[in-house]
Amino acid sequence: ATFDQLGLHPALLRAVADLGFATPTAVQQAAIPAALPDATGAAADLMVSSQTGSGKTAAYLLPLLHALLQASVDAAPRSAPRRGARWQPARPRVLVLCPTRELAQQVSADAIDLLRHARALRVATVVGGLPYQQQLQRLQGADVLVATPGRLLDLQRGGHVELDAVQHLVLDEADRMLDLGFADDLAAIHALTQSRGQTLMFSATFAPRVQQLAAGIMREPRQLTL
Ligand code: AMP
Repeated sequence: ATFDQLGLHPALLRAVADLGFATPTAVQQAAIPAALPDATGAAADLMVSSQTGSGKTAAYLLPLLHALLQASVDAAPRSAPRRGARWQPARPRVLVLCPTRELAQQVSADAIDLLRHARALRVATVVGGLPYQQQLQRLQGADVLVATPGRLLDLQRGGHVELDAVQHLVLDEADRMLDLGFADDLAAIHALTQSRGQTLMFSATFAPRVQQLAAGIMREPRQLTL
């Protein structure tokens, strides 16, 4: 199959072509159709086994960015924050959780690349170990937030981010997040994103602790083993 046959938004197809992606990788062939919303707008929960280098990032970004772009057609245009306007917390619709700063920064860069022809959607990154103030500025009006769990909860507790509008949650490298001790943070984030319609989990393995995490936060996920 080609990217054109996957039914993605034209702005995303143009970006994929710009990036020189000729055909979808195996994980993209499997995960993109499975993650896209159906005719009623509902989207399934998925667990995907995947390695770095497989194209897993675009495998979840493309269907989720597609869903955002579809929803934006109906939504009233958001005005940019006015100068001097009261400061508002970010209320992202897509939240991607990553185990490390490096992965989060790579995922953000990929999302920005894929949105090059859809400039109305904004991407922000929240990671530990970088200046707070710089990250707060970029948070304003973010539609897609890519974060490490600990720093995200710091900003949520500080009133800078609200997670009640999150529609799509991604756990990237879920096994590594568990290895790094993020289980409690993931549970807290799960509790703060109760209005979400879709959860996607990517992991190198489906070890019992990963299955246990999935059982706590997902609804009858489809499992794609590649
Ligand atoms: P990832 O597994 O998401 O870290 O992606 C690995 C690399 O593959 C990244 O540099 C992507 O830009 C690239 N990539 C992702 N999808 C494709 C594709 N369909 N064709 C060619 N390269 C791709």
